Amino acid sequence: MPALTGQSPEALAAWLADHGEPAFRAGQILEWVWKKKVTSYDAMTNLPAALREKLAAHFPLTALTHTTTQGSADTTRKFLFKLHDGRYVESVLIPANPALYGETSDRRTLCVSSQVGCAYGCKFCASGLAGFTRHLDPAEIAGQVLAAEQLSGQRVDNLVFMGMGEPLANLENLLAAIQLITGPKTLHLGARHLTLSTSGLVPQIRQLAEHPQQIRLAISLHGATDDVRQQIMPINKKWPVAELFDALDYWNSRKNQKLTLEYILIHGINDDLEQAAILARHARRLHAKVNLIPYNTVEGLDWVRPSDTRCRAFRDVLKNAGVSATLRLEKGHDIDAACGQLRLKQETTEGLIAPAPIKAR
Ligand code: SAH
Ligand code: SF4
Repeated sequence: MPALTGQSPEALAAWLADHGEPAFRAGQILEWVWKKKVTSYDAMTNLPAALREKLAAHFPLTALTHTTTQGSADTTRKFLFKLHDGRYVESVLIPANPALYGETSDRRTLCVSSQVGCAYGCKFCASGLAGFTRHLDPAEIAGQVLAAEQLSGQRVDNLVFMGMGEPLANLENLLAAIQLITGPKTLHLGARHLTLSTSGLVPQIRQLAEHPQQIRLAISLHGATDDVRQQIMPINKKWPVAELFDALDYWNSRKNQKLTLEYILIHGINDDLEQAAILARHARRLHAKVNLIPYNTVEGLDWVRPSDTRCRAFRDVLKNAGVSATLRLEKGHDIDAACGQLRLKQETTEGLIAPAPIKAR
Protein backbone atom coordinates (compact mmCIF):
# COMPACT_ATOMS: atom_id res chain seq x y z
CA MET A 1 0.00 0.00 0.00
CA PRO A 2 1.57 3.33 -1.01
CA ALA A 3 2.43 5.69 1.84
CA LEU A 4 0.80 9.07 2.35
CA THR A 5 4.17 10.74 1.76
CA GLY A 6 4.07 9.44 -1.82
CA GLN A 7 0.72 11.10 -2.64
CA SER A 8 0.80 14.25 -4.72
CA PRO A 9 -1.46 17.07 -3.48
CA GLU A 10 -3.76 16.32 -6.44
CA ALA A 11 -3.93 12.60 -5.67
CA LEU A 12 -4.66 13.31 -2.02
CA ALA A 13 -7.41 15.79 -2.93
CA ALA A 14 -8.97 13.24 -5.28
CA TRP A 15 -8.86 10.53 -2.62
CA LEU A 16 -10.51 12.82 -0.07
CA ALA A 17 -13.23 13.78 -2.55
CA ASP A 18 -13.87 10.10 -3.28
CA HIS A 19 -14.26 9.48 0.43
CA GLY A 20 -16.73 12.31 0.91
CA GLU A 21 -14.36 14.64 2.73
CA PRO A 22 -14.37 18.42 2.26
CA ALA A 23 -11.62 19.83 0.03
CA PHE A 24 -9.95 21.89 2.77
CA ARG A 25 -8.83 18.71 4.53
CA ALA A 26 -6.16 18.19 1.88
CA GLY A 27 -4.41 21.42 2.86
CA GLN A 28 -4.57 20.51 6.53
CA ILE A 29 -3.09 17.07 5.96
CA LEU A 30 -0.33 18.36 3.69
CA GLU A 31 0.54 20.97 6.30
CA TRP A 32 0.87 18.31 9.02
CA VAL A 33 2.93 15.98 6.89
CA TRP A 34 5.29 18.29 5.02
CA LYS A 35 5.47 21.50 7.05
CA LYS A 36 4.97 20.39 10.64
CA LYS A 37 6.54 17.05 9.82
CA VAL A 38 4.54 15.05 12.33
CA THR A 39 5.28 11.37 12.70
CA SER A 40 1.80 10.03 13.46
CA TYR A 41 -1.80 10.51 12.39
CA ASP A 42 -2.70 11.10 16.02
CA ALA A 43 -0.69 14.29 15.96
CA MET A 44 -3.00 15.76 13.30
CA THR A 45 -5.21 17.28 15.95
CA ASN A 46 -7.48 19.37 13.74
CA LEU A 47 -8.69 16.31 11.82
CA PRO A 48 -11.73 14.39 13.07
CA ALA A 49 -10.78 11.08 14.66
CA ALA A 50 -12.83 9.21 12.04
CA LEU A 51 -10.80 10.74 9.22
CA ARG A 52 -7.53 9.96 10.96
CA GLU A 53 -8.65 6.37 11.26
CA LYS A 54 -9.72 6.23 7.65
CA LEU A 55 -6.37 7.64 6.53
CA ALA A 56 -4.46 5.23 8.72
CA ALA A 57 -6.41 2.31 7.29
CA HIS A 58 -5.58 3.36 3.73
CA PHE A 59 -2.06 4.73 3.88
CA PRO A 60 0.86 4.10 6.16
CA LEU A 61 2.06 7.62 6.97
CA THR A 62 5.58 6.95 5.76
CA ALA A 63 7.37 4.29 3.74
CA LEU A 64 10.52 4.27 5.84
CA THR A 65 11.29 2.93 9.28
CA HIS A 66 14.44 4.43 10.72
CA THR A 67 16.73 1.75 12.12
CA THR A 68 20.14 3.26 12.83
CA THR A 69 22.10 6.51 12.64
CA GLN A 70 25.86 6.64 12.40
CA GLY A 71 27.71 9.88 13.11
CA SER A 72 26.67 12.96 15.07
CA ALA A 73 25.23 16.41 14.57
CA ASP A 74 28.45 18.13 13.50
CA THR A 75 29.73 15.30 11.34
CA THR A 76 28.35 13.34 8.46
CA ARG A 77 25.37 11.28 9.58
CA LYS A 78 24.25 8.12 7.86
CA PHE A 79 20.66 7.01 8.30
CA LEU A 80 19.62 3.45 7.58
CA PHE A 81 15.93 2.86 6.83
CA LYS A 82 13.98 -0.35 6.57
CA LEU A 83 11.41 -0.63 3.77
CA HIS A 84 8.04 -2.43 3.83
CA ASP A 85 9.53 -5.52 2.16
CA GLY A 86 12.39 -5.82 4.63
CA ARG A 87 14.96 -4.23 2.33
CA TYR A 88 17.18 -1.37 3.43
CA VAL A 89 18.11 1.97 2.02
CA GLU A 90 20.40 4.66 3.32
CA SER A 91 20.74 8.43 3.18
CA VAL A 92 23.72 10.50 4.20
CA LEU A 93 23.43 13.98 5.73
CA ILE A 94 26.52 16.13 5.30
CA PRO A 95 26.74 19.31 7.40
CA ALA A 96 28.56 21.26 4.70
CA ASN A 97 30.07 20.29 1.43
CA PRO A 98 32.75 22.74 0.36
CA ALA A 99 33.79 20.39 -2.46
CA LEU A 100 30.50 21.08 -4.13
CA TYR A 101 29.46 24.45 -2.83
CA GLY A 102 32.48 26.67 -2.21
CA GLU A 103 34.54 27.37 0.90
CA THR A 104 32.69 27.39 4.19
CA SER A 105 29.01 26.83 4.43
CA ASP A 106 26.45 25.98 7.05
CA ARG A 107 24.25 24.32 4.52
CA ARG A 108 23.29 20.72 4.84
CA THR A 109 23.35 18.35 1.93
CA LEU A 110 21.47 15.08 1.86
CA CYS A 111 22.67 12.24 -0.32
CA VAL A 112 19.55 10.34 -1.40
CA SER A 113 19.16 6.80 -2.75
CA SER A 114 16.96 6.02 -5.73
CA GLN A 115 17.00 2.21 -5.91
CA VAL A 116 17.78 -0.81 -3.74
CA GLY A 117 21.02 -2.00 -5.29
CA CYS A 118 22.01 -1.07 -8.81
CA ALA A 119 22.13 -2.92 -12.10
CA TYR A 120 25.09 -1.09 -13.58
CA GLY A 121 27.92 -2.81 -11.74
CA CYS A 122 30.55 -0.07 -11.78
CA LYS A 123 33.67 -1.66 -10.44
CA PHE A 124 34.38 0.84 -7.67
CA CYS A 125 30.92 0.96 -6.19
CA ALA A 126 29.35 -0.77 -3.19
CA SER A 127 25.82 -0.15 -4.45
CA GLY A 128 26.25 -2.35 -7.47
CA LEU A 129 27.99 -5.17 -5.64
CA ALA A 130 24.94 -7.30 -5.01
CA GLY A 131 23.13 -6.34 -8.19
CA PHE A 132 19.76 -4.70 -8.58
CA THR A 133 16.85 -5.46 -6.26
CA ARG A 134 14.16 -2.89 -7.06
CA HIS A 135 13.24 0.71 -7.74
CA LEU A 136 12.29 3.00 -4.88
CA ASP A 137 8.84 4.56 -5.16
CA PRO A 138 8.18 8.32 -4.76
CA ALA A 139 7.36 7.96 -1.04
CA GLU A 140 10.60 6.09 -0.45
CA ILE A 141 12.65 8.72 -2.27
CA ALA A 142 11.02 11.94 -1.01
CA GLY A 143 10.52 10.30 2.39
CA GLN A 144 14.29 10.18 2.88
CA VAL A 145 14.38 13.98 2.90
CA LEU A 146 11.46 14.29 5.27
CA ALA A 147 12.95 11.65 7.59
CA ALA A 148 16.37 13.31 7.59
CA GLU A 149 14.74 16.59 8.59
CA GLN A 150 12.69 14.89 11.31
CA LEU A 151 15.67 12.98 12.67
CA SER A 152 18.11 15.88 12.61
CA GLY A 153 15.66 18.64 13.48
CA GLN A 154 17.33 20.64 10.71
CA ARG A 155 16.32 21.76 7.29
CA VAL A 156 18.00 20.05 4.35
CA ASP A 157 19.29 22.72 1.94
CA ASN A 158 20.76 20.68 -0.88
CA LEU A 159 20.00 17.28 -2.27
CA VAL A 160 22.25 15.05 -4.28
CA PHE A 161 20.89 11.92 -5.89
CA MET A 162 24.20 10.18 -5.38
CA GLY A 163 23.15 7.47 -3.02
CA MET A 164 22.41 3.90 -3.89
CA GLY A 165 21.06 3.25 -7.36
CA GLU A 166 20.97 4.87 -10.77
CA PRO A 167 18.39 7.67 -10.61
CA LEU A 168 17.91 7.89 -14.37
CA ALA A 169 16.99 4.19 -14.50
CA ASN A 170 14.07 5.05 -12.21
CA LEU A 171 13.10 8.28 -13.91
CA GLU A 172 9.33 8.16 -13.51
CA ASN A 173 9.42 7.63 -9.74
CA LEU A 174 12.26 10.08 -9.45
CA LEU A 175 10.35 12.83 -11.20
CA ALA A 176 7.30 12.19 -9.00
CA ALA A 177 9.58 12.41 -5.95
CA ILE A 178 11.12 15.64 -7.26
CA GLN A 179 7.60 17.06 -7.54
CA LEU A 180 7.07 16.28 -3.85
CA ILE A 181 10.46 17.67 -2.90
CA THR A 182 10.08 20.94 -4.81
CA GLY A 183 6.28 21.48 -4.64
CA PRO A 184 5.10 24.54 -2.64
CA LYS A 185 2.56 22.47 -0.68
CA THR A 186 5.07 19.75 0.10
CA LEU A 187 8.81 20.13 0.87
CA HIS A 188 9.32 23.23 -1.27
CA LEU A 189 13.05 22.96 -1.89
CA GLY A 190 14.29 24.87 -4.97
CA ALA A 191 15.09 22.70 -7.99
CA ARG A 192 18.46 24.48 -8.26
CA HIS A 193 19.40 22.83 -4.98
CA LEU A 194 18.92 19.36 -6.45
CA THR A 195 21.76 17.56 -8.21
CA LEU A 196 21.18 14.32 -9.99
CA SER A 197 24.17 12.07 -10.60
CA THR A 198 24.15 9.54 -13.38
CA SER A 199 26.53 6.97 -14.77
CA GLY A 200 25.51 8.22 -18.22
CA LEU A 201 22.15 6.94 -19.45
CA VAL A 202 22.11 8.86 -22.70
CA PRO A 203 18.40 8.73 -23.67
CA GLN A 204 17.32 9.72 -20.17
CA ILE A 205 19.81 12.61 -20.07
CA ARG A 206 18.19 13.93 -23.23
CA GLN A 207 14.75 13.39 -21.75
CA LEU A 208 15.66 15.19 -18.53
CA ALA A 209 17.11 18.07 -20.54
CA GLU A 210 13.51 18.81 -21.58
CA HIS A 211 12.30 18.93 -17.99
CA PRO A 212 11.15 22.45 -17.12
CA GLN A 213 12.89 22.58 -13.73
CA GLN A 214 16.52 23.67 -13.42
CA ILE A 215 17.83 20.51 -11.80
CA ARG A 216 21.61 20.19 -11.80
CA LEU A 217 23.34 17.28 -13.46
CA ALA A 218 26.53 15.47 -12.45
CA ILE A 219 28.08 12.76 -14.57
CA SER A 220 30.02 9.83 -13.13
CA LEU A 221 32.75 9.88 -15.73
CA HIS A 222 35.79 8.23 -14.10
CA GLY A 223 37.59 7.78 -17.41
CA ALA A 224 38.24 10.29 -20.18
CA THR A 225 38.57 7.73 -22.98
CA ASP A 226 36.57 4.62 -23.85
CA ASP A 227 39.41 2.20 -23.12
CA VAL A 228 39.90 3.53 -19.60
CA ARG A 229 36.25 4.18 -18.81
CA GLN A 230 34.97 0.81 -19.91
CA GLN A 231 37.33 -1.01 -17.56
CA ILE A 232 35.59 0.80 -14.74
CA MET A 233 32.03 1.24 -15.92
CA PRO A 234 30.31 -1.47 -17.99
CA ILE A 235 27.71 1.07 -19.15
CA ASN A 236 30.39 2.65 -21.33
CA LYS A 237 29.99 -0.25 -23.77
CA LYS A 238 26.40 0.74 -24.31
CA TRP A 239 26.94 4.50 -24.25
CA PRO A 240 30.53 5.32 -25.15
CA VAL A 241 32.02 8.70 -24.24
CA ALA A 242 31.33 10.28 -27.64
CA GLU A 243 27.61 9.60 -27.34
CA LEU A 244 27.62 10.69 -23.73
CA PHE A 245 29.28 13.98 -24.62
CA ASP A 246 26.78 14.55 -27.44
CA ALA A 247 23.98 14.19 -24.89
CA LEU A 248 25.80 16.62 -22.59
CA ASP A 249 26.08 19.15 -25.42
CA TYR A 250 22.36 18.80 -25.82
CA TRP A 251 21.89 19.27 -22.08
CA ASN A 252 23.95 22.46 -22.25
CA SER A 253 21.84 23.72 -25.12
CA ARG A 254 18.71 23.41 -22.96
CA LYS A 255 19.98 24.33 -19.48
CA ASN A 256 22.10 27.06 -18.03
CA GLN A 257 23.46 25.32 -14.95
CA LYS A 258 27.07 24.16 -15.12
CA LEU A 259 27.55 20.43 -15.47
CA THR A 260 29.74 18.56 -13.00
CA LEU A 261 32.00 15.72 -14.08
CA GLU A 262 32.79 13.34 -11.23
CA TYR A 263 36.06 11.51 -11.48
CA ILE A 264 37.14 8.96 -8.90
CA LEU A 265 40.92 8.66 -8.87
CA ILE A 266 42.00 5.01 -8.78
CA HIS A 267 45.65 4.10 -8.56
CA GLY A 268 47.05 2.68 -11.79
CA ILE A 269 43.62 2.55 -13.43
CA ASN A 270 42.61 6.08 -14.44
CA ASP A 271 45.08 8.40 -12.71
CA ASP A 272 47.70 8.98 -15.37
CA LEU A 273 48.21 12.56 -16.37
CA GLU A 274 47.33 11.92 -19.98
CA GLN A 275 43.79 11.11 -18.83
CA ALA A 276 43.87 14.39 -16.92
CA ALA A 277 44.80 16.29 -20.08
CA ILE A 278 42.02 14.64 -22.08
CA LEU A 279 39.55 15.20 -19.26
CA ALA A 280 40.58 18.87 -19.20
CA ARG A 281 39.80 19.24 -22.90
CA HIS A 282 36.35 17.70 -22.50
CA ALA A 283 35.58 19.75 -19.40
CA ARG A 284 36.56 22.99 -21.11
CA ARG A 285 34.47 22.29 -24.14
CA LEU A 286 31.47 21.39 -21.97
CA HIS A 287 32.07 24.32 -19.56
CA ALA A 288 31.89 21.72 -16.82
CA LYS A 289 33.52 21.70 -13.42
CA VAL A 290 35.33 18.59 -12.29
CA ASN A 291 34.97 16.95 -8.90
CA LEU A 292 37.93 14.69 -8.20
CA ILE A 293 37.27 12.01 -5.60
CA PRO A 294 40.13 9.84 -4.33
CA TYR A 295 38.87 6.25 -4.40
CA ASN A 296 37.45 4.98 -1.15
CA THR A 297 38.25 1.38 -0.44
CA VAL A 298 35.19 -0.84 -0.65
CA GLU A 299 35.22 -4.20 1.08
CA GLY A 300 35.30 -6.90 -1.56
CA LEU A 301 36.96 -4.73 -4.20
CA ASP A 302 40.66 -4.60 -4.97
CA TRP A 303 41.48 -1.09 -6.02
CA VAL A 304 43.34 1.55 -4.01
CA ARG A 305 43.52 5.32 -4.01
CA PRO A 306 46.50 7.07 -5.54
CA SER A 307 48.99 8.99 -3.37
CA ASP A 308 48.03 12.54 -2.37
CA THR A 309 50.85 13.78 -4.58
CA ARG A 310 49.39 12.05 -7.61
CA CYS A 311 45.92 13.34 -6.83
CA ARG A 312 47.25 16.91 -6.65
CA ALA A 313 49.22 16.50 -9.87
CA PHE A 314 46.08 15.28 -11.61
CA ARG A 315 44.14 18.27 -10.30
CA ASP A 316 46.90 20.66 -11.35
CA VAL A 317 46.74 19.49 -14.95
CA LEU A 318 43.06 20.47 -14.93
CA LYS A 319 43.67 23.78 -13.17
CA ASN A 320 46.50 24.71 -15.49
CA ALA A 321 44.18 24.10 -18.41
CA GLY A 322 41.74 26.59 -16.88
CA VAL A 323 39.24 24.04 -15.60
CA SER A 324 37.55 24.50 -12.25
CA ALA A 325 38.42 21.35 -10.31
CA THR A 326 37.93 20.34 -6.69
CA LEU A 327 39.83 17.67 -4.82
CA ARG A 328 39.25 16.70 -1.20
CA LEU A 329 41.99 14.65 0.34
CA GLU A 330 40.94 14.42 3.96
CA LYS A 331 39.14 11.25 4.92
CA GLY A 332 35.88 11.03 6.77
CA HIS A 333 34.13 13.55 4.57
CA ASP A 334 33.82 11.22 1.66
CA ILE A 335 30.11 10.95 1.49
CA ASP A 336 30.05 9.45 -1.88
CA ALA A 337 31.34 5.99 -1.25
CA ALA A 338 29.37 5.89 1.94
CA CYS A 339 26.08 5.25 0.25
CA GLY A 340 25.35 1.62 -0.36
CA GLN A 341 27.80 0.22 2.13
CA LEU A 342 25.58 0.29 5.20
CA ARG A 343 22.73 -1.37 3.40
CA LEU A 344 25.03 -3.98 1.92
CA LYS A 345 26.26 -4.89 5.38
CA GLN A 346 22.78 -5.00 6.90
CA GLU A 347 21.23 -7.09 4.12
CA THR A 348 24.19 -9.46 4.10
CA THR A 349 23.90 -9.92 7.86
CA GLU A 350 20.22 -10.72 7.52
CA GLY A 351 20.88 -13.15 4.69
CA LEU A 352 18.87 -11.11 2.15
CA ILE A 353 21.87 -11.08 -0.13
CA ALA A 354 24.70 -13.51 -0.39
CA PRO A 355 28.04 -12.36 0.97
CA ALA A 356 29.79 -11.61 -2.28
CA PRO A 357 33.33 -12.67 -3.06
CA ILE A 358 33.52 -10.06 -5.78
CA LYS A 359 37.16 -10.29 -6.78
CA ALA A 360 36.32 -11.70 -10.18
CA ARG A 361 34.50 -8.58 -11.36
N1 SAH B 1 24.27 5.87 -10.10
C1 SAH B 1 24.60 7.24 -10.03
C2 SAH B 1 24.47 7.79 -8.66
C3 SAH B 1 25.26 7.01 -7.66
S1 SAH B 1 26.48 7.98 -7.02
C4 SAH B 1 25.99 7.46 -10.58
O1 SAH B 1 26.69 6.51 -10.80
O2 SAH B 1 26.32 8.62 -10.82
C5 SAH B 1 27.91 7.45 -7.70
C6 SAH B 1 29.01 8.32 -7.13
O3 SAH B 1 29.37 7.86 -5.83
C7 SAH B 1 30.25 8.20 -7.96
O4 SAH B 1 30.30 9.06 -9.05
C8 SAH B 1 31.27 8.60 -6.95
O5 SAH B 1 31.29 9.99 -6.85
C9 SAH B 1 30.75 8.02 -5.66
N2 SAH B 1 31.39 6.76 -5.30
C10 SAH B 1 30.87 5.51 -5.39
N3 SAH B 1 31.76 4.59 -4.98
C11 SAH B 1 32.87 5.26 -4.62
C12 SAH B 1 34.15 4.87 -4.10
N4 SAH B 1 34.45 3.60 -3.88
N5 SAH B 1 35.05 5.85 -3.85
C13 SAH B 1 34.74 7.14 -4.06
N6 SAH B 1 33.56 7.57 -4.53
C14 SAH B 1 32.64 6.65 -4.81
FE1 SF4 C 1 25.21 2.06 -9.97
FE2 SF4 C 1 26.14 4.56 -9.86
FE3 SF4 C 1 27.24 2.60 -8.37
FE4 SF4 C 1 27.58 2.62 -11.01
S1 SF4 C 1 28.29 4.19 -9.54
S2 SF4 C 1 27.06 0.81 -9.76
S3 SF4 C 1 25.62 3.38 -11.70
S4 SF4 C 1 25.18 3.40 -8.18
